[in-house]
Amino acid sequence: MKKKINGSLIGLSLISIIITSILLTSVYYNNFKLQVEDDLKLSAKLLASTDYFDSDNIDFSVLNKEVRITLIDKSGIVLYDNDVNDKLDNHLNRKEIADAIKYGEGNSTRTSNTLNMVTYYYAIMLKDGRILRLSKDAKSITAIFLNTLPFAFMLVALIMIACLIISKFLTMQLIKPINELADNLDNANLTVPYKELIPITDKIRKQHTDILEASKMRQEFTANVSHELKTPLTSIMGYSELLKSQNTSKEQKEHFIDEILKNADRLLSLIDDIIKVTKLSSNEVSFEFMDVNLYEIAKSQVKNYDIEAKKKNITLEVNGKDLVIKANDHLIEELIDNLLQNSIRYGNNNGHVWINIYENNNRKCLSVEDDGIGIPLSEQDRIFERFYRVDKSRSKKAGGTGLGLAIVKHIVEIHNAEIKLTSTPGVGTKIEVFF
Ligand code: ADP
Repeated sequence: MKKKINGSLIGLSLISIIITSILLTSVYYNNFKLQVEDDLKLSAKLLASTDYFDSDNIDFSVLNKEVRITLIDKSGIVLYDNDVNDKLDNHLNRKEIADAIKYGEGNSTRTSNTLNMVTYYYAIMLKDGRILRLSKDAKSITAIFLNTLPFAFMLVALIMIACLIISKFLTMQLIKPINELADNLDNANLTVPYKELIPITDKIRKQHTDILEASKMRQEFTANVSHELKTPLTSIMGYSELLKSQNTSKEQKEHFIDEILKNADRLLSLIDDIIKVTKLSSNEVSFEFMDVNLYEIAKSQVKNYDIEAKKKNITLEVNGKDLVIKANDHLIEELIDNLLQNSIRYGNNNGHVWINIYENNNRKCLSVEDDGIGIPLSEQDRIFERFYRVDKSRSKKAGGTGLGLAIVKHIVEIHNAEIKLTSTPGVGTKIEVFF
């Protein structure tokens, strides 16, 4: 993070320094060039207008040496040069001289071999046809640019130091509140230091609460499981002790054995349901989905409950038509199984259980309805919780584990379906599943 901020800041500063240096140098150089050219032109015109060069006996010694002055005759021969004493070659082919002969004036710029210096020339034709040329050396743009380099480097070094300090400060500003948040995730009142952090803190907080909740639920479940398993085991132990004692009649012994068997059976059902609910609630197990005919499954499940229903003289009815959904067949069997079992378990003698397979608002539905004892409104929210029973002793007596509807709820979730409970005590219960 710090490295990234550092890199970006330094990169940005370097680019701006380079662009600024190049732009400033070229603007400055352009102005400077125009100025030198104008100066040369003005000086040459002034000199030409003084008639000083008209006579043949010019006193060159009085001329200023700051500017190079060259006097050239019409044929290009250099008559005088205040800078060079040696004989100079014919100047007719020099651009400024050629232009001056042709148009009366001419100028040109030539770069020296070293690239560091540039010479500006301005030539004007005098009244007698001779050419007066003024020239001046000045630094080239490369030289000016090279001159600015040490300052640019100094600036870069300063900016780098500034970037290091700023990035350290910035990362501290960014990281400190995140660390504080991490330490105080439980504190809902802790304000988020800057608004960009709100989505991530919200998400982290939600996950944190979810994890805590899941862990609390797991703890509760473990405690409930231990408690639920302990009851039948304690009974088994008790009856086994009694069996061992000497003075028990044959009938008593038979009763004890029955109780042991009943409790062992209960223990098995409990373990079976615990395994199911744990498997269904863990995200690690995946279930294979296929075309499942709800009507077919309902009809075959009902057959399994014929005997049980007959014991209470309950009439089982399956109504509807073939409806195919994408589902896991075993889970759908389990779902119908649990709902059917409850309707018989909490149904009155001579009652009815109706399984309906139908379509509603383009949704495929399955409902299990009974005219049994019903569930009070105040309990209706809780019956899908693990081990929650409205009447614990009645559920136990009927062989309930308190996990049936929790299993149903998980199966519904796995199928992305919805569940709806409608129940009135003394009238009956209807549970609908919308796929
Ligand atoms: P159990 O094994 O006790 O039946 P469930 O999770 O299947 O556990 O159901 C939870 C509780 O909801 C039951 O103990 C019972 O009180 C109530 N219940 C479920 N289905 C019905 C129903 N069809 N009629 C009346 N009460 C029901």
